[in-house]
Amino acid sequence: MIQTVDACIVGGGPGGALLAYLLAKKGFSVLLLERSGQIAKSFRGEHINEEGEAILKKHNLFDAVEKLGLLKMGQLEYWHNGQLIKTISHDPAVGHLGIHVPQAHLLQAIFDAAQLYEGFEYYLNSRVTDLFQDADGRYTGVHVIRDGEKFIINSKLIVGADGRFSTVRKKAQIKTAIHKHGYDLLWARIPAPPDWQPSIKMALVEDMQISLFTQAKNYVQIGWNILPGSYSMLRKQPFVPFIEKLINAFPDLSEAVHEHITSWEDFILLDVFSSQAEHWGHNGLALIGDAAHTMTPTGAFGLNSAMKDADILAELLEKQTIEQLDSLTCASQRKQEIEKLQALQIEKEQGFSSHFSIMG
Ligand SMILES: Cc1cc2nc3c(=O)[nH]c(=O)nc-3n(C[C@H](O)[C@H](O)[C@H](O)COP(=O)(O)OP(=O)(O)OC[C@H]3O[C@@H](n4cnc5c(N)ncnc54)[C@H](O)[C@@H]3O)c2cc1C
Repeated sequence: MIQTVDACIVGGGPGGALLAYLLAKKGFSVLLLERSGQIAKSFRGEHINEEGEAILKKHNLFDAVEKLGLLKMGQLEYWHNGQLIKTISHDPAVGHLGIHVPQAHLLQAIFDAAQLYEGFEYYLNSRVTDLFQDADGRYTGVHVIRDGEKFIINSKLIVGADGRFSTVRKKAQIKTAIHKHGYDLLWARIPAPPDWQPSIKMALVEDMQISLFTQAKNYVQIGWNILPGSYSMLRKQPFVPFIEKLINAFPDLSEAVHEHITSWEDFILLDVFSSQAEHWGHNGLALIGDAAHTMTPTGAFGLNSAMKDADILAELLEKQTIEQLDSLTCASQRKQEIEKLQALQIEKEQGFSSHFSIMG
């Protein structure tokens, strides 16, 4: 089957979904292709900052997300050996130190809004496998496998919003510089203990960072930095002494951890890296979000940055038509800002232990 649209967006994460909505709102025909079978996919970062909040408000999406459920973080705390040693409270003018937005709620609000526009179409279970170009080298479409069946989508603009392992980036042979950050991440979620206040809590345990993020619907997300490549060795060691370190760092978690994290299987391992593509597209192809510039979890910038790329790219399309733009990317406006954020992530990671220096 062959289908023709103005814009084909590959990847229904926060960046791709928002861009699809904004372009449909401008009257373009847009097809959003997502390889997974559901909106709420494998979970990653779900905290947005003031910038992400402003983008959602600008596009009248924030209230809808709020109705579905979100949670504002009141404070950032630093803990040492089970004791609170430092608290940073939110700026009353901002009202929070980050907002937990379940990705399912964010995407649902965007899709509900997008579906009001005739030009918006969305296919799940649709994996883009290749790109094709015309004789002048302009990208003119993608190959998709949808529910096992092969499709061709012809499109004036192809956007790779397909995350850090982007197929679009690979198929367009756009090189990417990968930076390892000196840690992998163990990730687990447990029910929040009673009376747990919405907060972000940090501890330094044997020189490694442990972070707790309170989530909407009474959960606590645990992010535990470990040395890169160390997980297979770690798993050969007894589990109980390892998990006791978490409980010593945050004694209030004792009951929930004993009940819900009982073996290595209760953690998910995430390899952490950042990257910067050598360019963000050309000849009818654009990259946004993690496909263009993968972010680490530090500072919760990635999802916000993906939404900002979408916002800026949609603004560019207001001024020019898709055909006029041989190199339609938001790179010129965004690249420097992204480089600054990625440098800030490294600075925060390297300076993390200084928050605990008063402990000697
Ligand atoms: C552990 C961890 C925690 C993080 N925490 C935060 C946080 O709290 N706040 C924050 O702002 N950022 C956080 N980040 C970063 C954030 O998750 C990413 O920067 C953000 O998800 C990027 O959004 P995106 O839309 O560009 O890509 P993604 O969210 O990765 O979405 C890409 C989509 O493309 C789909 N896809 C991939 N390949 C194909 C294909 N071939 N065909 C069709 N579809 C495809 C995928 O299924 C996916 O749905 C975290 C990252 C990590 C690793």
